Amino acid sequence: MSEQLLSLSQLTYSWPGEQTPVLDIDQLALDAGSQVFVHGPSGCGKSTLLSVVAGVVQPDSGSLHFLGKDCLSMSKHQRDQLRADHMGYVFQQFNLLPYLSVLDNVMLTCQFSKLRRAKAQQRGGSVKQEALRLLDHLQIPDSALAKPVSNLSIGQQQRVAVARALIGSPALLIADEPTSALDSVNRERFMDLLMAELQLGESSLLLVSHDEALAERFDQTWSLAQLNRGGHHEVS
Ligand code: ADP
Ligand code: MG
Repeated sequence: MSEQLLSLSQLTYSWPGEQTPVLDIDQLALDAGSQVFVHGPSGCGKSTLLSVVAGVVQPDSGSLHFLGKDCLSMSKHQRDQLRADHMGYVFQQFNLLPYLSVLDNVMLTCQFSKLRRAKAQQRGGSVKQEALRLLDHLQIPDSALAKPVSNLSIGQQQRVAVARALIGSPALLIADEPTSALDSVNRERFMDLLMAELQLGESSLLLVSHDEALAERFDQTWSLAQLNRGGHHEVS
């Protein structure tokens, strides 16, 4: 039987100054090894949900458990370390460091987590070898590895962001609209690579996107309106 990796319950969050909560989630649970997709129109709160799961934004009420730990009773430092050790985050805007090379961007993850460093070494022989393996698998050409990441195409930068998030096999990969810059052929290729690499690292996936065409690849699919209490009657 699979164990629960992440669970949210009765969780609310309002951005400062806003009257209505952007998140008001009754229940959301993710088993280890599973893939969950949350969709909804722009502005509905998808990125906010990921910020809460990652511990970047603190909810106003409710509970959030990750790897059996009660995240809302942790200090900021504890949350930051939990994220560094066990979560990979692919941001909508990538958040790569433009002045660092492709290879250094990917290896950087392992500087913030001994655990990720050890897992990368175990898998690849060294952190560098594992970064090279991931970049090769994600189809970044060798000629790009030493270049500043800003010299790459958007599609390539997105795959570098995925390699950075996946090095050291985090328990959970969080991905915010990772396919939004891709046409449909490249979207399918990207998702194939992503799913294959997740399986290899036994990482779970929480992905948000407005693009419902992705839904068929996931174990669970929700609209954010469905997750939000009182939102069961969404207009489609
Ligand atoms: P989505 O990712 O689904 O497009 P977001 O989570 O980015 O939606 O935004 C949901 C709502 O929260 C929007 O109304 C947005 O204006 C508001 N919001 C998002 N980020 C912030 C922020 N940093 N400060 C204040 N309000 C925000
Ligand atoms: Mg967003």
